[in-house]
Amino acid sequence: MKIFDLHCDIGSDCEYQLMKGELEPFKTRHLQKLIDGEVSYVCCACFFYGKETWDEMAKMIVDMNSELMKNDVVFVKDNLDYFKEHRVHGIISVEGMCGVQENPREKVQFMKEHNVKVASLAWNDENYLATGVKGNVCRGLTSAGLEAIDEMAKCGIALDVSHLNEASFWDVIKNHSGKVCATHSNARTLCSHDRNLTDMQIKALAAKGGIIGMNACRFFVSDNEEEQNVETLAKHAKYIADLVGVEHVACGFDFMDFFGEGGLGEMAKDIESDDKAQNFVEALRKVGFTEEEVEKICYKNALDFFTK
Ligand SMILES: [Zn+2]
Repeated sequence: MKIFDLHCDIGSDCEYQLMKGELEPFKTRHLQKLIDGEVSYVCCACFFYGKETWDEMAKMIVDMNSELMKNDVVFVKDNLDYFKEHRVHGIISVEGMCGVQENPREKVQFMKEHNVKVASLAWNDENYLATGVKGNVCRGLTSAGLEAIDEMAKCGIALDVSHLNEASFWDVIKNHSGKVCATHSNARTLCSHDRNLTDMQIKALAAKGGIIGMNACRFFVSDNEEEQNVETLAKHAKYIADLVGVEHVACGFDFMDFFGEGGLGEMAKDIESDDKAQNFVEALRKVGFTEEEVEKICYKNALDFFTK
């Protein structure tokens, strides 16, 4: 079964490797694993934790473009037929826009020109545009943040709310006219992590036509260590589908195995890396989804979200 993974820190990993002198990190570290797991579409996140400058942000976005172009796998909406022949499509995404410290519209346009299809305003930090989950609970979007999301709607860049605090989340819901999604968050009713979404947030996202990518990091899957596995992750998919409809459920595994033992240790059992992605397909079948529903969750919902 084809998979569309809405979030993987491949952009950051490639940038670190390029700085170490690796020549083709996407090809040598990621491509084969994506093929083995049938991950046909992957959002390659350029991740910024809160201190990076615009120059650093822009450089990573440009470098990710060249990495994907070298392998001929850049996802371009207008060229779907051509890319049907390809097994892997890389979508450029941005996680955290802390480098935007002035002229938000210009910066968003730069992102559009460099094939960014989805972006989040903040990681866990508090920045010029918005407030992440670890920031001041009363602080939401700034006026620059509102300008940024307006420009994102105009440029067709989907807005990812995954790391926003609740104040910022509700500012987005109230003010954003474009596409909105949570690329890597689960249901808070099943697991109390503050990066997971409340039922009210899930309903608000669904009402705006949003999709939610199921996150395979173990602390997002269950509070109980014994249940941090792929079966429990499928239960999050089931819970959200029952709450708002299967059309809003997708994959956003947030694999970190390529960051070494520490990253690998963050992942839930049997869903640790791209080459294990098919275990999620099996787990979805086990929790009672029909084959048509499994297909929607695995890739169709996300593909529709980016192409329609
Ligand atoms: Zn994240």
